[in-house]
Amino acid sequence: MITKVMDVTGEPINIEHIKEASQILKNGGLVAFPTETVYGLGGDATDKEASRKIYQAKGRPSDNPLIVHISKFEQLESISSQLPETAKKLADAFWPGPLTMVVNKNEVIPYETTGGLDTVAVRMPNNPVALSLINESGCMIAAPSANTSGRPSPTKASHVYEDLAGKIDAILDGGSVDIGLESTIVDLTEDVVTILRPGYINMEMLKEVVGEVKIDPGIVYNDKGTTSGARPKAPGMRYKHYAPKGDLTIVSGEEQKVVSAINDMTATDMKNGKKVGIIATAATAEKYTAGSILVIGNRDDEKSIAHNLYDILRQFDEIGVDIIYSESFATPHIGQAIMNRLLKAAGQKTIEL
Ligand code: AMP
Ligand code: MG
Repeated sequence: MITKVMDVTGEPINIEHIKEASQILKNGGLVAFPTETVYGLGGDATDKEASRKIYQAKGRPSDNPLIVHISKFEQLESISSQLPETAKKLADAFWPGPLTMVVNKNEVIPYETTGGLDTVAVRMPNNPVALSLINESGCMIAAPSANTSGRPSPTKASHVYEDLAGKIDAILDGGSVDIGLESTIVDLTEDVVTILRPGYINMEMLKEVVGEVKIDPGIVYNDKGTTSGARPKAPGMRYKHYAPKGDLTIVSGEEQKVVSAINDMTATDMKNGKKVGIIATAATAEKYTAGSILVIGNRDDEKSIAHNLYDILRQFDEIGVDIIYSESFATPHIGQAIMNRLLKAAGQKTIEL
C-alpha cells in the first residue's frame, strides 16, 4: 500500500484533501490526522473491520481500546447508554479539548473498537483539521495515537510516516501539534470522576467543574511499581510503555547540583566508551560540557516542554545514544502529565539530589 501524504497546513484548510480523506474513511480505510494532543490513526468507529485494521497497523494489543473522536455533543449521547450529568458539565468546560471521557456504551460502537469493554472513551479534539474531517466524513472516528505500539506518540506527520508508511491509506499533514502529550482520560462510570491518565487538563481544573475528583490508584507509581498494587483501569496504562533505546535516568534537585551531577556521570560514561544524551532546558544547555545535548524547552514555558518531549526521545533513538540523562520537569500545570510519561520511559529510574 502506498501511503498518500496530504498537506493541510495552509489556511483555509485544503478542502479537497479533507474530502479525499473522508472518502477513505467512509470506504473503511485508515487516515492519520493531527489533533491538538498528538496525531491520531483514524478509522470509522462504527466499522469493526476498520478498528481491526487500526490494531493491525499499529501492532497494538487488541484489548487496548480506541478513543472515539466526535465533533458534536449529541454524538456522545448517541453512543452511550447512561450519560451522567457530569459529562455535559465537563464538555461545556473543556470540549473541544484534550479531555477524554469514559462512559457506558450502547450497541452503536462495536466491541472491536472498545477492546471488548462495555464502556467507550470519547473526545472532541480541538483542531480544525480533525473537526473538519469528522464533519465532512460524517463518521465518528476511532483513533489511537498514530505510532507503532511501543514507540513515542507522534507529534509531527514525519513521525507518523516513519512508523506507518505502507500500512495506512493516508496522512493529513497539519504540521507540528499543539500540546504534544495525549489527552487526560477520566472515568465517568463510577460515582466520583476518576483520572485514568494525566494530561493537560489537570486535577485542579477538573475539580473546579465537578467538585470531587479521584486518581486511579493503579497509575500512582514509585520506584518499586504502583504504590497500591492495583491494576490501572485504562488498559493502555498497563502495558510496558515506550522505552528509549538508551538507558534513561531522571535527575532531580537544585539546578546547579543537577547540572554538575550529570556532567560528572557523563564524563565517566564517555570514558567507558558510552554515547550519552542529555535532555536540557534553554537555561541549562550551555552548562553541560559533553554528550549530545538536546534542548527540550524553556522552564518558564512549560507547554514547550510537553510539546518537544516525544520528538526529543525519537531524536535520541536516531542518534543511537546508550545512556540518557534528563532533568526533572515537575512543573505546576502540566508537570504531572510530563513526569508520568517521562518516568515511564525511564522505567521509574530517578536520582534525587
Ligand atoms: P491512545 O489513543 O493511543 O492514547 O490510547 C487510548 C487510551 O485510552 C489507552 O490508554 C486506552 O487504554 C484508553 N481507553 C480507551 N477506551 C477506554 C475505556 N473504555 N476504558 C478505559 N480506558 C480506555
Ligand atoms: Mg498511544
